[in-house]
Formats: sequence, structure tokens, C-alpha cells
Amino acid sequence: MAHLPSRLFDYSSACMLSFFPEMTDPPYKIWYNRCIVIQREVKALLVNKAYKFRIYPMKEQERQNAKTIGCSRFVFNHFLAKWNDTYQETGKGLTYNACSAQLPHLKEELSWLKEVDSIAIQSSLKNLSDAFSRFFKQQNKAPRFKSKKHPVQSYTTKQTNGNISMEGNQIKLPKLGLVRFAKSREVEGRILNATIRRNPSGKYFISILAETDVQPLEKTESAIGIDLGMTDFAILSDGQKVDNHRFTTKMEKKLKREQKKLSRRAQHAKNNGIDLLDAKNYQKQKRKVARLYEKVMNQRADFLSKLSTDLIQNHDVICIEDLNTKGMLRNHKLAKSIADVSWSSFVSKLTYKAEWYGKTIVKISKWFPSSQICSACGYHDGKKSLEIREWTCPVCHTHHDRDVNASKNILAEGLRMVASA
Ligand SMILES: [Zn+2]
Repeated sequence: MAHLPSRLFDYSSACMLSFFPEMTDPPYKIWYNRCIVIQREVKALLVNKAYKFRIYPMKEQERQNAKTIGCSRFVFNHFLAKWNDTYQETGKGLTYNACSAQLPHLKEELSWLKEVDSIAIQSSLKNLSDAFSRFFKQQNKAPRFKSKKHPVQSYTTKQTNGNISMEGNQIKLPKLGLVRFAKSREVEGRILNATIRRNPSGKYFISILAETDVQPLEKTESAIGIDLGMTDFAILSDGQKVDNHRFTTKMEKKLKREQKKLSRRAQHAKNNGIDLLDAKNYQKQKRKVARLYEKVMNQRADFLSKLSTDLIQNHDVICIEDLNTKGMLRNHKLAKSIADVSWSSFVSKLTYKAEWYGKTIVKISKWFPSSQICSACGYHDGKKSLEIREWTCPVCHTHHDRDVNASKNILAEGLRMVASA
């Protein structure tokens, strides 16, 4: 029973009937009740997990990749233009089905479209119609034409009949065959789709989306508060300070130097009347900067993954500030952009992992004065300027580290909220 899709249990009894139409009499009720009991025991959740790996296509595979990306872009732009024209003429746009029906004719006309993965082309069309749906729901701006010059080039292909699979340290992909990849972990569950990307650094990556069952983690009876740091990334209420700041600072200096070099080369090309696209030294340097930036971001993502998993494994309740109120962490532009991205990505990682593994995230209002209250006695000491890193409570004389004290207050406030909910 345990391996029945857990999704089944989430449906109402009416839905159960559609799964098991023959179960209309009392026996069905017994069955259904048993399901409820099992749900309490198992509670496995069917979730989509994303995996990202670097891939190392051979020259021929690189050419095929470029072709597929080109064709996907062509189809997207082709139908976007048609869609816009139709809208101008008739006041109504097209539909996915209408475009899809035209695809075979288009392929007859332009035979090179047949040389690439047909599912990729179909997905590109689906992307377009999804973009229009979001636009009509006012969630997005109108879809725009895809440009060859966009720094990240990609295409997506879907799983059908085992066309995407992992074989050792190689991935089997439609029209490409086996591509070597940097296997850092096992892909669990059923592969849904794969997106192949070419980054500005010239490296190729694959993102795989797989559907898998996750089991809730064991309860630890522990709760923790997290303060978003000024100098450290996170300060925990148990006194721990976590950051990979030293790494980022080092890389930051390096990046700054290389970026300066890049702008010097741009200026040099300009002075000599050379178009930047043709300026070889400039393009070379541009790739170098992109590679460095990518390295910083990857390292950061890795750090955030590990930290969030660690917290989820070790605590049942995690209390955190609601917003990146201290987003203006460090003054440098780059540090700021990394910190900003990091915070939102950290909170979203914590949130979905909590959902997967049956843990609780409590978000505290950004107006909660976490750094003004003495966590030992509750005395409200008033606002403190940012330079004050430590202080002593005038009432109970406890000496506080500003950030650790704040995270203790965040924990207390979070637990209060859980108790009163
Ligand atoms: Zn006090």
C-alpha cells in the first residue's frame, strides 16, 4: 500500500469514486477510510525536483545544440509574429492548437526544421502560448521576440518513451545521443523534462525536472531563529554565524579587476571604430568575466542548498524575518546583488524544503523590533544604529551580540505566533 501514489489520498471521496467507479456501496467507504488512515502514516508527497548539471557535449553535439536552439527560437518568433498579425487583423489571437496544426506545413516548407528534436520545437510553441496565457491573466508583459544575442540560449525537451535517461555519467538526449555530464548526485524519480542551456561563458548546462516521492523527515523537537546578517549571511539563535563571505570577497576583487579590463577593452575597440561583436579581445574578456560571475553564483547556490538542508534536517520550526529588510547589506554593487539574490533564494529553498519534509517556517513581520529587545529579560531598549554590534541591557545587564540577540528574539516571536495560531 505504501507505494500507492500519495496524490490519491489528497482527493475527496467524490474523486475517489472517479478512480474506482465500482466502489459505490459500503465497501468503498471502508476502503476510503483505510486510505485516510494510511495517509496519516505515510504522508509521502509527490514533488517536482530540479537538478542542474554541467554537460560536456562533443563538437558535433554542440553544433546540434546550436541548431536546436536556433530552430526553437525560429518557431517561437515565427508564431509570435503570426499571433500578433492575427490579433491586429481580427482582434483575436491564435491558440496553441491552431499553431500546432500549422507546424507540419512549416516543416514541409523549411526542411531544416526536421533535423532537430521535434519535441523541443513543440515545447517552444507551448512556451509561447503559456506566455500569452500569462499575459492575458496580466501576470506578465506581452511575449517578445527571442534574440540570438541573448546571453543565455536554451531549449527544452520533454520525456516521452524513455528518450531522456541517465546512463552512468552520460545523459541520453533526443537527437544528441549520449552526452557526458558532471554527475554530482543521483536523479531520483521520473524525469519530466530537460532544458539545455548555453551560458555566456560558453559552458553547457542541463536542468532536469523529475517527479519524485519525498518522505517527511523525523521530528527533532527543535526550533531555531535566524537573523539576516550584516556581515555574516545568517546568524542563528544558538549563536552560530554562517557565511561564505570570505570566498565572495576574494572573488569579488578578482571580478572587479577583470570587469575594469573589460571596459578598457570596450573603450579600445570604440576608439578604433571596431564593432564590439567583432572585437576579439573584448569578447574573450567578456567570456572570462561571465565565467567568474558564474563561479561566484554557483558557489553561493551550493552554500545556500547545504545551509537550508542542514536547518531543515535539524529543526522542526524555523523562524525567519519576512523580508529582506537588510537587503542593503554591503555597499559594493556586486556584493549587494549577490546578497539580494541569495536571500530570496534562501527563503524559497527553506520554504519548499519545509513543505517537502513536514517542517514549519514562521515568517516574522519586518516591523518586529528584533534588535531592540533584550532577549534575556524582554526590556525594550529602543532603536540602535547599525554600528552598534554589541550592547548591554541596562536592566538585567546581559551583554548581547546584536545579531545573536536579534535571532533569539525572532525565535521567541515565532514560537509565540505558532502557539497562538
Ligand atoms: Zn535585559
